[in-house]
Amino acid sequence: MVHVKSKKSAAKSSPKGTTEDALIERIGRRLAAGGRRAPAALRLGIGDDAAILRPGARNDWVVSTDFSLENVHFRLDSHPAQAIGYRALARAASDLAAMGAEPEFFLLSLSLPQRHTGRWLDQMLSGMAAAARQLRLHLVGGDTTRWPMVAMAITVIGRVPRGRAVRRDGARPGDHLYVSGRLGAAALGLALISARARRAPLGRRDAQLLRPHFYPAIPVDLGIHLAKRRIASAMMDLSDGLSTDLTRLVRASGVGARLFASRLPMVRVPAALARLGLDPLKLALDGGEDYGLLFTVHPSRAAAVPRSFFGTTITRIGEIIKGRGVHLVDAAGRAHPLSEGGWDPFRKQRGTRPR
Ligand SMILES: [Mg+2]
Repeated sequence: MVHVKSKKSAAKSSPKGTTEDALIERIGRRLAAGGRRAPAALRLGIGDDAAILRPGARNDWVVSTDFSLENVHFRLDSHPAQAIGYRALARAASDLAAMGAEPEFFLLSLSLPQRHTGRWLDQMLSGMAAAARQLRLHLVGGDTTRWPMVAMAITVIGRVPRGRAVRRDGARPGDHLYVSGRLGAAALGLALISARARRAPLGRRDAQLLRPHFYPAIPVDLGIHLAKRRIASAMMDLSDGLSTDLTRLVRASGVGARLFASRLPMVRVPAALARLGLDPLKLALDGGEDYGLLFTVHPSRAAAVPRSFFGTTITRIGEIIKGRGVHLVDAAGRAHPLSEGGWDPFRKQRGTRPR
């Protein structure tokens, strides 16, 4: 929002009079901090060509960027505008939680078709502003342009005490394996959306079931706690499904993992939805976008792991072993190699995203 880089873009002005400058001004206003104090690292915010940030000698910056694209991550006909805005920022902030960083700043690059620059944009921004308040993120810049599809690229910047960010490569054989929250809840919501798209009527409780998909809760404070107290030896967020994300963690750490099926905190599929034929175990293993934390802990630190953290349950689901890959242990104690069944945008498959 700070600067207008796209001087040659088609979005310079419209016949209806929405100029790019006016749009940028509106976005900045809608996402303004609303009385919250800016992080101390902010030297210069929106209004100049670029922002100036100063982290201080005792901190590291943690930086990540994330796409939210129409027809890939959301659909305009099935996702409310508020949810699209909320979710876009929450998805990006999840990677800060995964490192144990305190969220501080974000940059929003946004493309919009002309017909979405009015009420739809206001609603989308109100959802994003709610996420910014909850996640303590302060807008410091971005860019905007007109384009036939809604697309967002959000860059988030977090702060962590020097050397304390938790990486994926620290898991060691013997470490305990934990997950926060409930697995498969977002995938269940998505399945409902797809069912609705096929014109299967939905009941009243559906709004509640859609919530984890529309408004994912990001366990930022849990991530900070696990990093600050040096509890987690390795950590990441669950964005693409447990089977895929755990495979990434063990690969980065050069270890294997054993997962106990009976311990997985699976989402409960209401009896009324039996017609959708959803398997809770499959949702838990392969359903993406839960945005819980997956982390490992050395046995000597296991007593420091809370059972729940401000209402988020934490469950021990397995252990790190020597070797490679992920093995799922069934109720009878038999171990089966687990393949990656989660979301991969480059793999041709029946994924979990809307299409
Ligand atoms: Mg991640």
